[in-house]
Amino acid sequence: MSFKMNIQQNLINITSTIPGQVTLVAVSKTKPISNIMEAYDAGQRAFGENKIQEMVEKYEQLPKDIKWHMIGHVQRNKVKYMASFVSLIHGVDNFKLLKEINKQALKHERVIDCLMQIKIADEDSKFGMTDKQASEILKSQELKELKNIKLVGLMGMATFTNDVDQLKLEFDYLKSTFDSIQAKHPEVNILSMGMSGDYKLAIDCGSTMIRVGSSIFGDRNYSI
Ligand SMILES: *Cc1c(COP(=O)(O)O)cnc(C)c1O
Repeated sequence: MSFKMNIQQNLINITSTIPGQVTLVAVSKTKPISNIMEAYDAGQRAFGENKIQEMVEKYEQLPKDIKWHMIGHVQRNKVKYMASFVSLIHGVDNFKLLKEINKQALKHERVIDCLMQIKIADEDSKFGMTDKQASEILKSQELKELKNIKLVGLMGMATFTNDVDQLKLEFDYLKSTFDSIQAKHPEVNILSMGMSGDYKLAIDCGSTMIRVGSSIFGDRNYSI
């Protein structure tokens, strides 16, 4: 008997239940090239990774029409490795990082789309800034000088919990932050929230981009 994960069937199950305007980012961190190709062959083009080195290695081996999303915490000194190809950086949580992304994007004559990560979880381990810090960056004069980045949305990671009420509070909070920011900055139109365990709730709360890993590729094994 085979216990092979049916990646293509999992993808169909998810894409057939989410609204058409919601983008599915298939989170392929720790998973081999062959798994990504299975998803690719089913039509999936957006993939998310949380380590720059791993994303670069996969980018080099895989078809060039894949859109690579950096969903992890980004160290400034590693931006240069992904600047030539990354499609969307989800986890921007300070202005110095934005300046570095701009500098590296300029070298490749690109404009790199970025999301600002807002801290919504009540866990210390989750990165992110406050809604106030995000608003201040958006209205700052310094931002106008960064011609090679574009702030196109917000991203958040909810608390790791099964408590639906708490998850809903956190998603609602991010959605209301998103709405008030978007009212002043219409170019901010992506709301990245929701993972395998909570993407349905996130979509109900207004998510436009979900990041789903284990529901597509199966559990991750970090020990190998
Ligand atoms: C790993 C990861 C995901 C996907 O998690 P799953 O529970 O496997 O769907 C989503 N977002 C971020 C930022 C991640 O690091």
